[in-house]
Order: sequence, then structure tokens, then C-alpha cells
Amino acid sequence: MTGHIKYPTNGEKITAKDGKLQVPDNPILGYVEGDGIGPDITRASMRIWDAAVEKAYGGKRKVAWCELFMGEKAAGLYDGNYFPEETKAALKDLLVSIKGPLTTPVGGGFRSLNVSLRQDLDLYACVRPVRHYAGVPSPLKKPEDVDVVIFRENTEDVYAGIEYQSGSAENKKLAAFLKNEMGANFFDDAGLGVKPISEFGSKRLVRKAIQYAIDNNRESVTLVHKGNIMKFTEGAFRTWGYELAREEFPEQTITEEELYSTYGGKRPEGKVVIKDRIADIIFQMMLLRPNEFDVLATMNLNGDYLSDAVAAEVGGVGIAPGANMSDNVAVFEATHGTAPKYANQDKVNPGSLLFSGVMMLEHLGWQEAADLITAAYQEVVTSKIVTYDFARQIEGASEVKTSQFADAIIAQINGGLDIEEFREEREKAIEKDRKVRELRRVSSPLEEMIASGRIPHTVGDLMNPSPISLPPETTVEDAMHLMREKGISSVITRPGEDGQWGIMTQRDVISRIVSKARAPASVKVGEVASKPLVTVPVDMTLNDCAEKMSSSNIRRCAVTDKDQEPIGIISDTDIFASVEQFGLPE
Ligand code: NAP
Repeated sequence: MTGHIKYPTNGEKITAKDGKLQVPDNPILGYVEGDGIGPDITRASMRIWDAAVEKAYGGKRKVAWCELFMGEKAAGLYDGNYFPEETKAALKDLLVSIKGPLTTPVGGGFRSLNVSLRQDLDLYACVRPVRHYAGVPSPLKKPEDVDVVIFRENTEDVYAGIEYQSGSAENKKLAAFLKNEMGANFFDDAGLGVKPISEFGSKRLVRKAIQYAIDNNRESVTLVHKGNIMKFTEGAFRTWGYELAREEFPEQTITEEELYSTYGGKRPEGKVVIKDRIADIIFQMMLLRPNEFDVLATMNLNGDYLSDAVAAEVGGVGIAPGANMSDNVAVFEATHGTAPKYANQDKVNPGSLLFSGVMMLEHLGWQEAADLITAAYQEVVTSKIVTYDFARQIEGASEVKTSQFADAIIAQINGGLDIEEFREEREKAIEKDRKVRELRRVSSPLEEMIASGRIPHTVGDLMNPSPISLPPETTVEDAMHLMREKGISSVITRPGEDGQWGIMTQRDVISRIVSKARAPASVKVGEVASKPLVTVPVDMTLNDCAEKMSSSNIRRCAVTDKDQEPIGIISDTDIFASVEQFGLPE
């Protein structure tokens, strides 16, 4: 390297092989201290990262920091250039870097530095983990339920910059084409923007999100979209997302539909559930039932809104971390701006940059160091030692400077933190929450679907899974006991000599046993059941199922899998409840 950037001689570069990082014990990591409050938070955070690495690996591992220049500091060094080529090259070459906030110079002709960075390095995924840390003030009743990682597509959508100002020649040309040749209808002189969403762009984003979920033992990936309105852009994103999961991760993923229809609500060990939600529902859900969501994959605009909204639920921009990534290059960054009024006052919260560094350590596979910081941070904030922004929200807080806050965290890191206990507790809490939700999915699938914002489309979405099936020679009396015990209103009867499946409902017992004064103990279910069993395939639409039920004049059907085995029961009550709640599915 020539110019102002000097690679440290005591470090080695990180490399990538087949998309996986090869991290030496003394990796060179790039850092840009940033403008405004940048130097304050960078200085404090670096001390914490180094202390955690030292403590976790006893000197075996150590970061070799390499300063890179962007923003005002770069402009001073590189003759007014805010984003020098040398920095661009180093960010690509070092693969992993971290940056503070940057001032976008005011005045014509400047692209935002952050936009330039994303575009020039093709950092197509903006990754924002949002979780609650004990002690951090939050407006939610149970902020600990928030633990999501948002993967936002960074290059496409209405942010692609394809816009034509009202009244301009280009606008008029495009408007004429749309109206005259495409039959489009809109008000004259409307400003026009184009929303490109490509298969390539969508799939590489979703691929990254799914890979992250697999690597980090996450439960689900949710595709967020408004495909009900914008079918060929947002709807296509959803379709491509599912397609990618099916084609590239068939062993590691299942769809939410399969979760209910094939697995009765029980997530098979290690499988990531791929689901989708309409964007406006996600905003509601992240307030009402945030623990239903884990990794979220979004297009650019939805993701922009969502990341800040969710961050605000658990502490706001002062502590929300983030990163922008391409296949191999990652630039971690504070998500807030330069807050110029606080520059050089050693005053602000370093949390956003600090946790971006925690993400970076996790990205390197240095989980122990990352956990040490998280545990230490919670200890310090819980004891109400905080910077001004939290101090004004926590009663009885001791307000400290940025550097003093860092001192307190480092003291915890070097003190008697039991990191194993911290990890175990966190894992136990996650496992417990997953079990509770699984139990609810298994016992009341419809209620659970509704509560978690899923719109049922198929018979498989609505059916009550794992129906009880009995041999035909079981007595009606035994079957009645079982139905009462299990709280179910029908059982399936297995094929006897006639080779036919059947279904026996409470109504059948009333009309064929009780009203005829036959003793339940002396009649076999095979004689009472209605046959042949009317079945519908698990992927049948609700409309088609309703049509079949009414034409067969029945209130319940068995749902079968591709081998024709009954795997669930769906009733008119289920369909009624769904349509009442969500309307007729598309
Ligand atoms: P900002 O710098 O994020 O500051 C807005 C407010 O957020 C601050 O006044 C402060 O609130 C709070 N805040 C931000 N960082 C904080 C921290 N570390 N600790 C505690 N509170 C914090 O947004 P802005 O004022 O709109 O933008 C200022 C400059 O930053 C602009 O030049 C903009 O272009 C740039 N910017 C850069 C980035 C980036 O580099 N990633 C992102 C956004 C903006 P209180 O006043 O209530 O204390």
C-alpha cells in the first residue's frame, strides 16, 4: 500500500475460500473512526474489543488494527477527497472493517458517503441485529422478546435512483410511453419512480439470510413483502425466496406450511422454517409478538423502515448495530449519524459501534470475546452506569462519560464474569420460549397462526394435524372415552376388510348409536363410521375444499399427504373462522 494507509506488520490478512472466511489469530481489521462523535465512540469501543479478545484468548489472538480514511479526515489527507480509492481498495482487500458515522458534505454533486460505499463495494445486504440487553430502557412490556436479525436488500427497489421529476423531458417521455403503449393510467405530471426487484438481487439476499440462520441456530427466516398489492416486484421477492430455499437448502429448511401440515407444528431439530408475512403485519407483530420472528429478509424500502422501528423498541439508534456485506466483504458500522453537537465531548453512547464490533467478532467466529462484551455491557447498564441518553430515561442512574462507560465495561470483562453461566442462561431462555410456542402450535394451530400473523391459504394451513386413527374393531365406547379425554369431536377409522378409511364424529355417535338406543360397548367404530372417507390433499385451496365439502354435504374431511395417508382433519368451523378473520384467500 502507498499513500496514507499502512498495514500493520504484526498482523495477517483475512482471506476467503469458497465463501468462508479464513481468519488468522492476528487478523488485520480496517477501521474508520468517522466524523463528529466518531472518534469518541471509536476510541472507547476499541479499548473494549481489545480487552475482550485479550481476556477470552489470553493473548493467543489479537486484532492488528489498520486505520482507513473516509469523511472529513480523508478530505484533509487526500486533498478534499472524502472517499479515496486507497480506502476503497483496502476495504475490499482486508474483507472485514468497521466504521464510525460519516458526514455527508453539504453542497451539490456529493453522493452520500454511505451510499457510495454500498454501491462501490456492492455491499448488497444491510444486516441489523436487534435484541434487548438487560437494563436498557424500552417502551415494550417484554422487550426481552425482541431478538431478530434483519437482512435488508441494499441495491434495488425504489432506492435504485431511477426517478423522473415531474415536468422534466424524461418524465414526459416515460409517461407518454406508459400511457400510450402500456395502457397505464395516472394523473398528468406525476413524478415517476421505478421499482426494480430482480431474481438475482432477491436470491442473493435471501441466500445470505438463510445461511446466517443455519450457521447461528436460528429458528426461522421470514420473507417480508407487500406481494398482495405489488405482485410482480414484492410478490416475486416472496416467490424467489421460497424457490431459493427449496433449491439450495432443501435439507436445512422447511416451509411454515410444512411445519403445520407435515410436522404438526413441531419444528424438526435443526431445520430453519421459511415463512412470509405481509409488511404491515410485520410492524404489528414486532410490537405484539416479536418472539415469533428470528431472521427477517426484506427488500430495501420495507427494511429501511423496519430496522429503525424495531431498533426503537429496544433502546433506539444509540445502541443499534449494523453491517453492510457483499459475498465476502463486510463493513460493520454505527447506525446513527455524527451527532455533531456532541462531537469531542466524550459524552455519547458508544453502544451502536460497540455492538457492531460484537457482530464483527461473531463474524470472525470469535464468539467468546463477543459474549464477554455482551455480558459485561448488561452488568454495567443494569447497575445504572450509563451515558446521558439512557440516564435521562432511567431513574437513579449515574451518568458517565463515554470513556468512563468503557472503563466500567472493561472492569467487568476483567472481573469475575461467569461467561459460561451467561451463555447457558441465554440458551435456556431461547429453548424455553421455543418450546412454549411449539406447544401452542401443536395444540391450537389455527389460533396460533392467526396470532402470529399468518394468513391461511391451503387446507394444510388450517387442518388439525395428527388425527387419531383407530382400528375398525375398536368399540364405540372406547372411542368415546378417548374423544372426551383428548377433547376431539371425531376420529378416523383405519381400513378393515372393506379396505376403506372412515370417519366417526360425535354426531355419528348421537344419530347412529344413542338415538337408536344401541349400547356403545357392543358396536365397533368400523360399523358406525361414515365411508368412504372424503379426503382432500394437503395443498388444496380453502375455496376448493369448501366446494368439495358442500357438494359432498359433509362438515369435515380428512387431509391426506402425497402418499394418500390421512394427516389431518379440517372442518367447516375451521374454514368459517379463517374466512371471518382474514377474508377469502387469494
Ligand atoms: P444523528 O447524528 O444520528 O443524531 C440524531 C440524534 O440521535 C442526536 O442528536 C442524539 O439525540 C441521538 N444520537 C445519535 N447518536 C447517538 C449516540 N451515539 N448516543 C446517544 N445519542 C445519539 O442524526 P442527524 O443529526 O440527523 O445527522 C447528523 C449527521 O450524520 C448528518 O451529516 C448525516 O448525514 C450524518 N449521518 C451519517 C450516518 C452514517 O454515517 N451511517 C447515518 C445517519 C446520519 P439527542 O439530541 O436527543 O441527544
